[in-house]
Amino acid sequence: MKAVVVHGVADLRIDEVPEPAHCPPGSVIVEVDYGGICGSDLHYVSHGSAGTSVLRHPLVLGHELSGRIARIADDVLDLRVGQPVTIHPGTGCGECRYCQGQLAHLCVRMRYFGSAAHDPHTDGGFVRRKVVPASQIRPLPPWVDLRSAAVVEPLSVALHAVRRAGELAGKTVLVNGTGPIGALVVAIARRLGAAQVYAVDIASAPLAIAKALGAHETIDASTVSELPEAEIAFEASGSPAGLSNVVRWLPRRATLVQVGNLPVGAVSVDLSALVSKEISYLGSFRFDREITDAIDFLATGLDVTPLITHVFEVAKAEEAFAVARDRAGGAGKVLLDFTSEPGHL
Ligand SMILES: [Zn+2]
Ligand SMILES: [Zn+2]
Repeated sequence: MKAVVVHGVADLRIDEVPEPAHCPPGSVIVEVDYGGICGSDLHYVSHGSAGTSVLRHPLVLGHELSGRIARIADDVLDLRVGQPVTIHPGTGCGECRYCQGQLAHLCVRMRYFGSAAHDPHTDGGFVRRKVVPASQIRPLPPWVDLRSAAVVEPLSVALHAVRRAGELAGKTVLVNGTGPIGALVVAIARRLGAAQVYAVDIASAPLAIAKALGAHETIDASTVSELPEAEIAFEASGSPAGLSNVVRWLPRRATLVQVGNLPVGAVSVDLSALVSKEISYLGSFRFDREITDAIDFLATGLDVTPLITHVFEVAKAEEAFAVARDRAGGAGKVLLDFTSEPGHL
């Protein structure tokens, strides 16, 4: 079967890999239908690293997945073959103080699909059939379409960022950077009753997606010098210049959640106003139990389809990655489609 594997910088390949030979105790085999291309997947291909995770061996990419259960180990009793599912791509060690304290997403030994954080790396799910521990399976209601279900992972990341900010109902919210995560923060902010949601970006295509996901107003920061006042802001661009601009225009006592990955190393950012304006500046990383609520959002009508701008057969993975990189050119979430690969269901 085909697997989408990064071998090094600018070296993305579609490799033939063996089918899973058996289904170990406690596991299922998922037949993957769709996989979303994430910023981290793109980083591994462009730079050979994502944040502080550096590629040392070939790595199967992919952690935004949907599909159906194809096989079940005898000791897994609460799942059934054919069931539509998404996958929680992370597993904590279960023992560290973060895992013990219900903060498994901060586990120092976290294993994440498609991640080079540890050596050996943890292969991802850009492959037709994947052995997955049953504990990482999240069943889907049958009416959630599997393309939208591939967005559950970034939706969970966005929801975690929103939870970091506290109550959004009735609040004025600004989202800087409307790539997939920022655009999903916009959708959730609307869903949770924010009074006014401003979406800010420096390109028109991502702003159009944010508008379709519910932004009241879109602002092209490359053409205006000022941002509106917002009680709660989300910085989803990861751009030092974008962050400086948001801090500059936030009102006093605002809350600012950093969900976009900032560059590793020393960067120039003007944070002087954090002090004088008493801004609460919070980081947000991954997610844990929010995945259940993210699935609930989809199941109860949250429409993420405006975000899904492209779907490519897995054989065209290279083209899909090139398109996904071109956000200004209109790429929102780009999905790989495995359904044309031979299936057992
Ligand atoms: Zn992702
Ligand atoms: Zn742990």
